[in-house]
Amino acid sequence: VLLQTILVGDSGVGKTSLLVQFDQGKFIPGSFSATVGIGFTVGTVPISFLFQIWDTAGQERFRSVTHAYYRDAHALLLLYDITSKSSFDNIRAWLTEIHEYAQSDVVIMLLGNKADMSSERAIRRDEGERLAREYSVPFMETSAKTGVNVELAFTAVAKELKHRA
Ligand code: GDP
Ligand code: MG
Repeated sequence: VLLQTILVGDSGVGKTSLLVQFDQGKFIPGSFSATVGIGFTVGTVPISFLFQIWDTAGQERFRSVTHAYYRDAHALLLLYDITSKSSFDNIRAWLTEIHEYAQSDVVIMLLGNKADMSSERAIRRDEGERLAREYSVPFMETSAKTGVNVELAFTAVAKELKHRA
């Protein structure tokens, strides 16, 4: 079973950095726009389940993430940046688009990234929690820089997918 996951959210929230941190266990500072697709396995049944994760680079403007991407996705990691109110405010628009184009049973997880930047925090953790509860999706704060919750977030999604498959 090939389970596709895509990373979505405004430009600059840390999608690529989060994927690099998960894949390589390190933080490479600075913006870069490589489109990365990685495959990984989780748990004790590595052969029958391959998780493929796609970054969305340069497609962050609304309505420009290819609709086929949504349609084929089994899971979506939806990111905002805890230091950026606009990236948080745009989550509702992202969810509207997701609900319009993605499969109705798509697994969604909301992530508040850049949790290491607490001195510049613009969105409190409980605001993220409240929004996630409103849409009935799980929520975590992550840091692509320190790696906090990165592995946990990806494996939580993978486990949920495996559970449903
Ligand atoms: P993308 O456009 O969503 O793919 O965002 P990038 O991964 O390119 O990251 C945008 C900028 O934020 C870059 O300068 C990253 O180094 C920085 N960044 C990404 N994640 C984090 C994080 O968790 N903590 C901090 N401090 N910086 C981050
Ligand atoms: Mg990127």
